[in-house]
Amino acid sequence: MAVDSTLSSAVGASVSEKDAKALQFIEEMTKNVDSVQERILGEILSRNADTEYLKRFQLNGATDRDTFKSKVPVVTYEDLQPEIQRIANGDKSPILSSHPISEFLTSSGTSAGERKLMPTIHEELNRRQLLYSLLMPVMNLYVPGLDKGKGLYFLFIKAETKTPGGLLARPVLTSYYKSDHFKSRPYDPFNVYTSPNETILCPDSIQSMYAQMLCGLIMREEVLRVGAVFASGLLKAIRFLQVNWKQFAHDIETGTLNPKVTDPSVRECMSKILKPNPELAAFITKECSEENWECIITRIWPNTKYLDVIVTGAMAQYIPTLEYFSGGLPMACTMYASSECYFGLNLKPMCKPSEVSYTIMPNMAYFEFLPHDDSSAQDSSRDSPPRLVDLADLEVGKEYELIVTTYAGLCRYRVGDILRVTGFHNAAPQFRFIRRKNVLLSIDFDKTDESELQQAIENASVLLKEFNTSVVEYTSYADTKQIPGHYVIYWELFVKDVANAPTDEVLSQCCFQMEESLNVVYRQCRVADSIGPLEIRVVKNGTFEELMDYAISRGASINQYKVPRCVSFTPIMELLDSRVVSKHFSPALPHWTPERRR
Ligand code: AMP
Repeated sequence: MAVDSTLSSAVGASVSEKDAKALQFIEEMTKNVDSVQERILGEILSRNADTEYLKRFQLNGATDRDTFKSKVPVVTYEDLQPEIQRIANGDKSPILSSHPISEFLTSSGTSAGERKLMPTIHEELNRRQLLYSLLMPVMNLYVPGLDKGKGLYFLFIKAETKTPGGLLARPVLTSYYKSDHFKSRPYDPFNVYTSPNETILCPDSIQSMYAQMLCGLIMREEVLRVGAVFASGLLKAIRFLQVNWKQFAHDIETGTLNPKVTDPSVRECMSKILKPNPELAAFITKECSEENWECIITRIWPNTKYLDVIVTGAMAQYIPTLEYFSGGLPMACTMYASSECYFGLNLKPMCKPSEVSYTIMPNMAYFEFLPHDDSSAQDSSRDSPPRLVDLADLEVGKEYELIVTTYAGLCRYRVGDILRVTGFHNAAPQFRFIRRKNVLLSIDFDKTDESELQQAIENASVLLKEFNTSVVEYTSYADTKQIPGHYVIYWELFVKDVANAPTDEVLSQCCFQMEESLNVVYRQCRVADSIGPLEIRVVKNGTFEELMDYAISRGASINQYKVPRCVSFTPIMELLDSRVVSKHFSPALPHWTPERRR
């Protein structure tokens, strides 16, 4: 079995005691994958044996894998919704977990247009913390000297709500940043951020971004790494600098904070950091007033060794833009996680984005895998559960859908991610993130699936009726060439009465109607300006037939041809764009409030 020699040889070599312990832990976990998984499942099943959910399947106290696999069904979020709703409404009985549900984590995945609510228990914070604590020891193997400076990370909290039963519902990172694990973390020279806690914990994201960027500019010489959770977040910060650099230069020149930052705790902490510095202000003015923003990251933060940002999965579309702004700095994708569970880390964080593989830590949850190419196993019928494979038994080169059983009470839950096994570290498989099932379009945290897009198009096309016009065909494209990116929908229309064709105003309203119909995460990203206005491009009649001809010329079967509902392949984009007759944009922001619609 292939073993990453850097990691193995580092254990016992001249790394700090703390790092050595973390690396030793990774070695132990990855060498003993199967026994750790067996133990974890046993622990979960014995502690949750008396929950209403598990009792339903009559395990009768059994905690072994065979009984579990034969009796407990594989489920989706929709299957668990009745239980989740009861917990949200205040039922405190042990429904899914014997430990009290401490809060709900709001996933960026949606169900019926609303964010999914993932139950969690207090101790999960320790598991998340444990995974975080492994990241720097691995990074230190590849990048020396990270204790000699700071990390400029753009980290944010988001709106939180309460369920009818009084439980908090908020994103997992908001929960983590607001926890004592983060707020009262002990000093660690390898994890010093330019952003003070007060700026990260400011609930107004604009004020938060403003203060974090200002700190980054003031401490620019000390910055050794620049990051955000996802690539889209870092690009949003760059755009923020593009729009606001004059204000930053003014603040730095005068040593006064922009009065638009009103949060008292941010103002107080910034008063200790911000001092008049005309020289720095002149430097920022010089760099930012240039037309060309190529390499702006390395120009402003010259000591940056890498970008710490996830560019795998849907975020891969941002790699060229980040390369442009950073002059090709390495991009480290350090971890793979979700609201349901934190999964694992990248043991070679400085590898190329296209080569990133994540190693799932077997102590985080019990993991099973549904072979993705095995069509007989796709259907999760309750009577005959599909054959799932254990973490230790996966095969290199194959694709699987990830299924988790967590301490918080999700049992055999389909996460919706498709992963490919690329190799092993010790006995632990390593995974390339392939894609999320059913996601068609994604710009930031939004994930729009085919049925949501279809529904949005149907709702919008109602506006065309009075013009005797209908949508004959459509496809879509996530345009990320500019910041923020936006959805482009190509429409081929059938206009019965050309004299009464829909006007630009009507088609713009169609854009708006589509946005109103899309899920809550899309609408929130729009309101937060991390997605630009939706665009409809009307194409000439016959364009979709040409698209089909093109696909057939490349080997598609006429019988089985289906119009792709999302496109990204350059020749197809060129064909579509060369047939565009008009372009229309959504004129307003869609409706969004933190409250759930239901
Ligand atoms: P959420 O529950 O909103 O935190 O979203 C979790 C999902 O984000 C995962 O199930 C993945 O689809 C995606 N995701 C998380 N980490 C990564 C990563 N490192 N690379 C690609 N996709 C990721």
